[in-house]
This record gives sequence, C-alpha cells and structure tokens, in this order.
Amino acid sequence: MQDSGLVALFGEKTSTFEMNNFKLKDPVGDQILVKVEGCTICGSDVHSFLGRRSVQVPTVLGHEIAGRIVSFGSGNKRTDYSGDHLEIGDFITWSVVANCDKCIYCNRGQPQKCVSSFKYGHKKHNPEEPWVGGLAEYILLVHGTKVFKIPEGLSLAVACPANCTTATNVAAFRVAGNLAGKVVLIMGAGMLGVTACAMAKFYGAKLVIVCDTNEKRLIKACEFGADQSTLPAGLADVVSNLTVGLGVDIIFELTGSPVAFENAFECVGIGGKIILVGSVFPSVPVGLQMEIVVRKLLSIEGVHNYAPEDLAQALCFLNETRYLPWKSLVGKWLSLSEVDLAFQLAQSPEYYRVGVSNAMNH
Ligand SMILES: [Zn+2]
Ligand SMILES: [Zn+2]
Repeated sequence: MQDSGLVALFGEKTSTFEMNNFKLKDPVGDQILVKVEGCTICGSDVHSFLGRRSVQVPTVLGHEIAGRIVSFGSGNKRTDYSGDHLEIGDFITWSVVANCDKCIYCNRGQPQKCVSSFKYGHKKHNPEEPWVGGLAEYILLVHGTKVFKIPEGLSLAVACPANCTTATNVAAFRVAGNLAGKVVLIMGAGMLGVTACAMAKFYGAKLVIVCDTNEKRLIKACEFGADQSTLPAGLADVVSNLTVGLGVDIIFELTGSPVAFENAFECVGIGGKIILVGSVFPSVPVGLQMEIVVRKLLSIEGVHNYAPEDLAQALCFLNETRYLPWKSLVGKWLSLSEVDLAFQLAQSPEYYRVGVSNAMNH
C-alpha cells in the first residue's frame, strides 16, 4: 500500500480543482480503507461545481464511487450489508449516507435524513480526515456505512452510478408501488431518466412515455425501454392519444424544472401519483392547482436519496439487466489529474456520465 494519496480539492481558491497529497492512516474501529477504482460525476456534482447548489468549500466532490478494499479496522466484522464475507481486494460500493440506526429518522425508515448522517462527496474538507469523497485515490468508510459487494463481472461503468442514480430510482419506484399494467410518464431522459425507463419496463409498466427537450436523449431512452418519446411541445397530445384521454397513472419528475412539472401535471389521470426526484437545487415556485389535486385524487411525493435496501435492489436490478447498454452511458473516462476537463465535459448533454478513474478497465 502507498503511504499517501492524491485528493482533488474543489474550490479552495477558485471554482477549480487542486491536487493535494495526504498521508494515509490505518483504519480504526470498524472503518474500511478503500482504493477508489472510479467515480462517475453526478448531475448534483455538476450543480455544485457551477455554484447552483451551496456546498462548503473546499470539499472533495464525487459520490458515485466503486472501489476495492485495502484494509479493515480491527473492529470491523468483515461482512457486507447482506451478510456476505468481505475480504481485502473485494470490489464494493456503499450507501452515499452513513447513518446511526438509532435516531428518530433512522427508526422511521428515513436513514438518509439521520441526525448524525455522514454523506460522502458532500463534506467540508478537513486535512485530518481528507478521504471523504470519490475524486481522490482513496476513501475511508466510516462507522455506519452500509457496504455492498458488487456482483461478479459488473463493470466499473455500470457499478459507479448504482449508489446514486440507480438506488434513488429504486427509492422512487418503491414509492410508486406496483407498476403492473400502469401507464408511466418519465420527465427527463438523462441518467436518472433512462434508468427509470428501464426500471419501469422491468417492473411491469404497461406503457412508458418519456419526455425531454433533447431528441438524441429520447432515442437513447427508447433503447432503455421507453415505448414512446416526445418533446415537451407534443406531450399533452401524445398522452391524450395513448391513454384515450384518461391520463397517466404515475409520473416521475426527474428534471427539477418547474416547467416540466407544470407540463406533466396536465397529463396526470384520476388517482395518479406524481413523484418528485429531480428538484435537488433551488428553483422558482410552481403554480399548483389545488382543486385538480383534490378532484383527481392525486398524490404528490418527494424522494431524496434512498435507504440501504434500495441500493441492494439497485445492484440486483443492474445485474439482471446486463442485456441493456449501461456501459454506453459513461461516455468518457479521464484520470484524476484531468478532473477539471472531466467537469467541463460533464456539463455537455453529449454525456450522461463522465467517469474519473485511474483503473485500466472500465
Ligand atoms: Zn448523485
Ligand atoms: Zn440516525
């Protein structure tokens, strides 16, 4: 093992990254030291980079991470969340929030809101504890982190987004309930959206409609299972024609755009459910017609992050849908020293994800 490693610190002086070298310490208690194999840049990392989301700087961004175990603290039980034995060298991922399992939110099944939560890729930098984000050579998993073995043969490109995009989708689908025979509308065909298209079909939706402003992304969403795609201007007609005026049963709003919400709201049918997932940055308020919510018996729910069970299911889902072109969603891999370029590229709609990795195989 090296005795030190690199960390890409964001925002110390300007909105760029600076490479810093820090000494590695042996893990203590039940901590696990992990070598980062790769980290894909999530949309929320891009929001932080562009200043749309407030983050305490300097910080180590990156939370869609997969890595290999380097060493265990002496108090670690060496089992993953499912009880499988863990060994040095195992390829793992973990829930983005470490939680206490004791507080009011943990007891209520909302561990992502734990009062003593520790969120990877979101901490203000502390030179004593620098291994807290994915844009670094190593990461130190702290007490309360739920660790998962990555299924055999799943590539880095498929594994990295599991602990954010895929698991968040699973949480949203859990809220949606049984999809068998339902008509689903997915607003947004980015990484969350194409994953949601695949998941909706996998879980038995009768019809999946996807809406985005980008035509190329709509084509990709159809490769992942959408039955019908449309630009926002055509949405109301498409929904009306395909549902003989009844409207859709479930809407996943994945863009965070108030305009997208208002467009989608027009399309919901009686007893419909609107699940808000994309609004992870401030936006202007939407005009909500309360009378329609009442008369149509609607429910509107928000989903933020996920519980560890959702990540377990996300890994099963990715494992069982290997026939889909998941790998194609990470359009570019760059090394840690090219992290500035990685964030420039990650802003382009050309790429669903840009990955940062020093590993040879993605
Ligand atoms: Zn994320
Ligand atoms: Zn807690």
